[in-house]
This record gives sequence, C-alpha cells and structure tokens, in this order.
Amino acid sequence: MIDYTLTLILFIFGACIGSFLNVCIFRIPEKLSIVFPGSFCPICKKNIPFYCNIPILSYLFLRGRCKNCKTPIPIRYPLIEILTGIFPVFLFFKFGFTPVVFFWFSFICVLIVISLIDFDHQIIPDIISIPCIFIFASSAFFIPEMSIKSVLLGIFTGGGILYTVAFVYFKLKKTQGMGGGDIKLLAMIGAATGIKGVLFTLFTGSLLGTFAGIFAILFVKGGNRYLKIPFGPYLSAGAIIYIFFGESLIQWYLY
Ligand SMILES: [Zn+2]
Repeated sequence: MIDYTLTLILFIFGACIGSFLNVCIFRIPEKLSIVFPGSFCPICKKNIPFYCNIPILSYLFLRGRCKNCKTPIPIRYPLIEILTGIFPVFLFFKFGFTPVVFFWFSFICVLIVISLIDFDHQIIPDIISIPCIFIFASSAFFIPEMSIKSVLLGIFTGGGILYTVAFVYFKLKKTQGMGGGDIKLLAMIGAATGIKGVLFTLFTGSLLGTFAGIFAILFVKGGNRYLKIPFGPYLSAGAIIYIFFGESLIQWYLY
C-alpha cells in the first residue's frame, strides 16, 4: 500500500533541496557565495521574494518568466527541482526509512550539481569533489556492505584507472584528453560505492556516453556538437543506476 502523504512530503522536501541545488549550480562556478545574498534574477538583479521562489509552483504561476523583467526562466530550473524531488521517494521505496536513504540522497544531490556544472562549463570544481571524497568515505558507516577497506579500494581504483588513462593519453597525444576533474569525481564515486560500484559506474558511464554519441550522430540534426558533452554527467548517471539496480544488473550479467 503506497502512503501518498509520505510520498508527497518526501517529494516536496526533495524539490526544495533541488531549488537550492539550482543556486549551487549557478553560483559555485562563478565563485559566488551559495548563502548570501538571497535569490536574485541573473538578468535584472532584482531580489526574488520567497513567494516567487517556491519550487516548481512559482515557475508555473509566473508562467516561466521573471516577475520583474519578464526574462524567460530556463525550464531546466523546475526540471531539476522535479528530478531532485523524485529521488527521496524512490530511495524510500527501495531502502525504507534507514540512514542509507539520507546517505544516498546527499550523494545524488552532489552528482546532480557536478553533472550540470560539468555540462555548462566543462569543469568539475575541486571545491566540491575533493571534500566529498572524504565526506562520502562515511559510506563505511552508513552502507551495510561497505567497509573502510572497500572505501579505500574504491577511491584508489576509481582515481587510479582514470589517472592511468589520462596519463597514457597525454604521453601519446601530448594534449590533455581527460580532465583531472573526472579523476577526482570517480575517486569520490569510489568512496561512496566501493570497488564494485566504481567499476560498474565506469562501465555503465562509458556505455551510456557511447550510445548517446552514436544516437546524436545518427538521429540528431547537427548531432556532432553533442559529442562535446563531458564525461561527468555519464559517470554520475552510471553511479545512480548502480545505487538502484547495480546488484540486480551484476547478478543478471554474471549468471
Ligand atoms: Zn529579472
């Protein structure tokens, strides 16, 4: 029996966090504080009052425009709020009310922020990825099947594989192929998911990236420009798939 009230509360909670993630995605690459000042329109700089800053709903009743200058608000803002709202619900259905839900939701929030910053600016800020390697090493305490050993193995496997790829590429081509940001991102994913998770993520992320590239070339007009999409979003998607389906997919593949 689905508890609709609880589902709604979890969704609203997630959507509010999503609203904050939008602020992080916009401000962290610009090196602005994520706390002060309050929300403002990036075009007319006017402050956004709280009643115009309600996740999803404000976008609807403002009809997707700034209340002051009428500049269109990108549809991405409410979409990220919806996406962030859905995850606490899915995590709750999968894991029940356990600390695991809190851990994975924090992890997914960081992945959403990193993916969109990487998509917009082709960088993964160290100020997020490096502290998060340490923060998500707490998986050893939150996730039953993780241990300090699996955390360390995850970090060094994740960071190590991509570091080797980047190093070899640099030696062969004398230009940088893979950004250092991806190395730290995969180390962070390794801290949270361990060696099994990090290998799954790398495999799934590469597969998704390849399919997306082929799809873009074959079916999208001017699809070549989509090939420039960085690796971060695909790695993040791979890690999220691991949280929900990793065990079942690994079992299915092996047996
Ligand atoms: Zn405005």
